[in-house]
Amino acid sequence: KEIRGDELKVLDELGSGNGGTVSKVVHEPSNTTMAKKTILIESQSPIRRQILRELQILHHCHSDYIIEFYGAYLEGPHICMCMEYMDRGSLDRIIRKHGPVSYDVFGQIALSVLRGLTYLYDVHRIIHRDVKPSNILINSKGQIKLCDFGVSGELINSIADTFVGTSTYMSPERIQGAQYTVKSDVWSLGITMIEIALGRFPFADVEEEESEEEGREDDLTLNANSTLSPSNATRPRASSRAGTTIGVTQGVAMKQSVKTHAPKKKTKGVMSILDLLQFIVNEDPPRLTKFGKNAQDFVDKCLIKDVKLRPTPKQLLEQNLIQEALKKEIKLNEIL
Ligand code: ADP
Ligand code: MG
Repeated sequence: KEIRGDELKVLDELGSGNGGTVSKVVHEPSNTTMAKKTILIESQSPIRRQILRELQILHHCHSDYIIEFYGAYLEGPHICMCMEYMDRGSLDRIIRKHGPVSYDVFGQIALSVLRGLTYLYDVHRIIHRDVKPSNILINSKGQIKLCDFGVSGELINSIADTFVGTSTYMSPERIQGAQYTVKSDVWSLGITMIEIALGRFPFADVEEEESEEEGREDDLTLNANSTLSPSNATRPRASSRAGTTIGVTQGVAMKQSVKTHAPKKKTKGVMSILDLLQFIVNEDPPRLTKFGKNAQDFVDKCLIKDVKLRPTPKQLLEQNLIQEALKKEIKLNEIL
């Protein structure tokens, strides 16, 4: 049976992000608690119906590492998606509340995410496209599952993609306008793994620097000839959806003022989104030194900048970190 909006009672607001808002609801006919995501779609109703059709593939996704899908329906200009409610919430909230994860939890998360990505790709040829801590969910059974993967091309096109905050898990090749592949998800996993190990976004204090001046103001101009854009002639078939990157990858001149307040002592400079994108493309990837060799090797593999050399999720399952995690019986529900 299809789910109808009038069968749902809202219990709580869970949060909101790029695409919409998420509420905790109860489906009264079945007495099932669910998470309902409401997404505003600006397109005409034929497009909305098309998205609804494309979402039906979710009814065929069944894995211990993927959120269950219960159904979707249209409501005015919105699409509502009902999915499994995960009662411990997302990893970003968990680390905000409990701090960085332990080494054992780190290994279990890597294992679960890789199994989820491998399932999606091997069985359904689905690339996730949005691996980040807020799309990795935990429940009190100790399960770790992925949500918010890109099943509907029309839906991806219809969500006006804006960078909320300044975190970006986007791979260097994506920033430069290349096609998404399953290896782009691997990059995002690498950034995610460092973030949950440190309890903060790995690029956050990149601009940490000493400066004598007060309130220095830099003008940063990016254009077609800047290092971000490979060439003006080969315009990447870039996403008409990639928010800030449109201007960058398509070579539109952009000017941005970056104000760094620099009191006498060492301060954390705030990186603008453009600085960050440029940094990801041009500099060495971040590394993880905290948890020893297996964790470090794993993250190094995820963050290989050359897509051709970067492993797939399936290949990463062979890594020592994962082999070690497989041997351990971790009761995640008691830890998190
Ligand atoms: P984002 O993923 O960018 O944070 P979303 O709109 O996808 O934005 O989700 C908002 C928040 O809702 C997430 O950060 C997460 O904490 C929570 N959430 C999303 N889906 C679920 C779910 N199935 N169960 C529990 N919490 C969820
Ligand atoms: Mg999400």
